[in-house]
Amino acid sequence: ELAQRLRGERSTRFGARTLVYAVASGKGGVGKSSVAANLAVALARRGKRVGLLDADVWGYSVPQLFGVRRNPVALNGLMLPLQAHGVRLMSVGFLVADDAPVLWRGPLLHKALEQFLADVHWGELDVLLLDLPPGTGDITLSLLELVPEAALLAVTTPQPAAQAVASRVGRLARQQRMPVAGVVENMSTLVCAGCGEHTAPFGAGGGQRLADELGTELLGRIPLDAALREAGDTGLPVVAGDANAPSAVALTELAARL
Ligand code: ADP
Repeated sequence: ELAQRLRGERSTRFGARTLVYAVASGKGGVGKSSVAANLAVALARRGKRVGLLDADVWGYSVPQLFGVRRNPVALNGLMLPLQAHGVRLMSVGFLVADDAPVLWRGPLLHKALEQFLADVHWGELDVLLLDLPPGTGDITLSLLELVPEAALLAVTTPQPAAQAVASRVGRLARQQRMPVAGVVENMSTLVCAGCGEHTAPFGAGGGQRLADELGTELLGRIPLDAALREAGDTGLPVVAGDANAPSAVALTELAARL
């Protein structure tokens, strides 16, 4: 139904009707990359052809989250994305040696993103997810320019402070006439492994408030779940490795809504 609503925004660049989502957050550490990675895997498991572009150039985490670190192969002047868990991946982390810091500035960043979009053989895609760096910096602005058809998927925790910062990204999107697909609240509740009781270490309501503020929907609430964190550390996304974990169930439901 969301796809229906965004139909006008579908891109023809990566396939006949590709949905492009920019996964963004106000600040780091709210789980934006974890959500993007698991959403990509969940969509692939639903039979979609999915690409994930790690545009978090300084803080890239896709190689770690997917457990892949190889140099992409070039074919006819195009780089082939790496494949893992059914997702086509591209990250600056595949190109730099041994976790070297990336020191690129504005113009070079813009160029690199342009190449990630144009000089990568993505093939036909149903969905392309862009994992943006946190905030409203150079890369976010470049991507808005390079992929104007991307719809914003804003990730926040329930905490008022996180929601307030995320709303700046939302307002930037609105200003630039970027479509807003919806909000994902991450780290919503903590389920006690012993007694099953739900607690809310980061408070409640941030996701819904952000969605209201942006005039969009809260598409999903992902619980704080040790399984997700462990999965990220071992390079096997929780959705693929432990599909019954509470976070995996919520992320799979979220994928069904996109
Ligand atoms: P961001 O991309 O916003 O900086 P990350 O996806 O890198 O955030 O997540 C930050 C940290 O929080 C990581 O260690 C990750 O494993 C952990 N994390 C994210 N979401 C959850 C969750 N729902 N439950 C448990 N840990 C999480």
